[in-house]
Amino acid sequence: MKNLWSDNDARAYVRRYAKDGVSEDVALRVYTTRLLGGDPRLVIHGGGNTSVKTQMADLTGRELDVLCVKGSGWDMGDIEPPGLPAVRLEPLRELVQLTSLSDEDMVNVQRGNLLDSTSPNPSVETLLHAFLPHKFIDHTHSNAVLALTDQPDGEAICRDLYGSRAALVPYIMPGFALAKKAWEVQAANPDCEGLILLKHGVFSFGETAKEAYSRMIRLVSMAEKAARQSKRKPLAQVRLPAKLMKPAEIAPILRGLVADGEGEAQKRFVMTFRSNAEIKRYVSARDLERFSQEGNVTPDHSIRIKPVPLIVPAPNAAAPEKFAEGAAKAMAAFRQRYRDYFATNNKKSPVKKIRLDNSPRVILVPGVGLFGVGNDAKAAHIAADLGETTVEVTTNAEAIGRFDSISKYDQFEIEYWSLEQAKLGKGQEKPLARQIAVVTGAGGTIGTAIAGAFKAAGADVALLDRDAKAVEAAAASVGGLAIEADVTDPKSVENAYARVAEAFGGVDILVSNAGAAWQGRMDEVDDKGLRESFELNFFAHQYMAQRAVQIMCQQATGGVLLFNASKQAVNPGPDFGPYGLPKAAAMALMRQYAVEFGGDGIRSNAVNADRIKSGLLTDSMVKSRAKARGVSADSYMRGNLLGREVTAADVAQAFVDLALAEKTTGAVITVDGGNIAAALR
Ligand code: ZN
Repeated sequence: MKNLWSDNDARAYVRRYAKDGVSEDVALRVYTTRLLGGDPRLVIHGGGNTSVKTQMADLTGRELDVLCVKGSGWDMGDIEPPGLPAVRLEPLRELVQLTSLSDEDMVNVQRGNLLDSTSPNPSVETLLHAFLPHKFIDHTHSNAVLALTDQPDGEAICRDLYGSRAALVPYIMPGFALAKKAWEVQAANPDCEGLILLKHGVFSFGETAKEAYSRMIRLVSMAEKAARQSKRKPLAQVRLPAKLMKPAEIAPILRGLVADGEGEAQKRFVMTFRSNAEIKRYVSARDLERFSQEGNVTPDHSIRIKPVPLIVPAPNAAAPEKFAEGAAKAMAAFRQRYRDYFATNNKKSPVKKIRLDNSPRVILVPGVGLFGVGNDAKAAHIAADLGETTVEVTTNAEAIGRFDSISKYDQFEIEYWSLEQAKLGKGQEKPLARQIAVVTGAGGTIGTAIAGAFKAAGADVALLDRDAKAVEAAAASVGGLAIEADVTDPKSVENAYARVAEAFGGVDILVSNAGAAWQGRMDEVDDKGLRESFELNFFAHQYMAQRAVQIMCQQATGGVLLFNASKQAVNPGPDFGPYGLPKAAAMALMRQYAVEFGGDGIRSNAVNADRIKSGLLTDSMVKSRAKARGVSADSYMRGNLLGREVTAADVAQAFVDLALAEKTTGAVITVDGGNIAAALR
């Protein structure tokens, strides 16, 4: 591993932060924390932590010894000085005299000694940093070091490799007990450059930021070299079916199975797919069952991805029903094993815990790849990243010897950490949390507003539009997935859904919004224009709905189809036949889906909006129509019963309302400020 320290960069950090009144110590602490955090082979997703012991003045101007240590919620890769809250050092150091300290008391004393009471909670490894005497301390979960220590004889391997350079600390759960043990080990080996925490990670320390960082890189590089020089054996592979199902075909089946509970209490999950040559070799390994069920590569992964992943059968493309059956059996067995794991370990645990859901967070599919599972796309992405880290560490551990993790009880104590349990039930989920919405015509004004409203309601959103640039911009503005797609082309629709399935696992809500207005009197209208209008204003709705319903039926967790209808479908106006006719057919289509799929828990509804400023109704169109009626543009827009202009946000909210109306299907709601001629029953 390359040492990325640069004197120039270090000076630049010091200069830059000096402007904000940040000391050199803290500026350099930010610099090397980011160097470490920038490499996923060292830390990912909030893992690892760093500290510096320095002085700061309190309100009276008195200089205090403080520990600036990484705060929870901050990532090492993009940390800023507020992510390193200052804690009074002496009160923490005095705690080393205690024989035990609960996590709650530890958090309390750490918070109580913050210089700034609004700071985030200092890391759970704060006491370890405080007890050690060194000025700069770095901690990572280096993949290379884990591959060596995650072995039945990991202790001997590390002792041979590091000698007196790094001292070894046996596995203890993070908290006071680990901090005290690390302090004892360091005191017995005062000249060591770091500590190897068996089956957990590595600490390095020094008098300067450069020294601590360089020692970390050296300890990690030694592990990398040892792995390269060992007699490596590749993972033996299983025989796979000649043709495998595609990830997009597998995802909805698994997403249905991973949903937890029944009926209205059911909780869905979002899933994201990952694959590459290394992942494929891992999931297709002959010994996958043995090493994947051993446990996690470093303890804090257990909080995010549970102790073990789910393995499903290799998905033979020649027998997809057999795969679905096999996956269902595997999922049922996983849930049972998880219940047993909880019951067994909860009995042993001194403090009784509340059981979490028993759905897996990583799913391994032989021959194909892995899925990360989470409450939303972000959590699924994190789970997949941890899954990938597991692949790398385990593959290397198996190449050197045999992968070995901490005991199931130790994993349980991490997964059911009291500090994590305390967070349970806090923070209400948003109304559409865990759902996936697909919005067409999302590059336009109304489509972007719809996508934004669904995202704000908690759904993960895929935005489709044939205008690549517009949909990229819209997706970036709402925080969704951009897909360039032509919804009048069934092949393009198929590809778009495949991308949604790989990114999110499936679909729960379709907002079929794309449309455009064709005009012309019926005696003059040409066939071509009329057919084009039917392609976009009718057939595209059918293509999108048909595929959505197929996926929803595979998931078997219900869903909702939402169509953007038009006033023209209810209250035709002259010259708008080419637009109104397919829109009327689309409204009938909505009802047809309501009739045929109600039994599957799939609802189908429409929004009938009118006179919304958008790509379909531009400013110049508003002006000319207002002029034709002899009114101002403003009063034209407010020409409805309520006398108020209707906006894209009003339309978007109506779609969200329909998605939430669990007992409503076959309905059209109007969002037009009141137009009795276009009123439905
Ligand atoms: Zn750690």
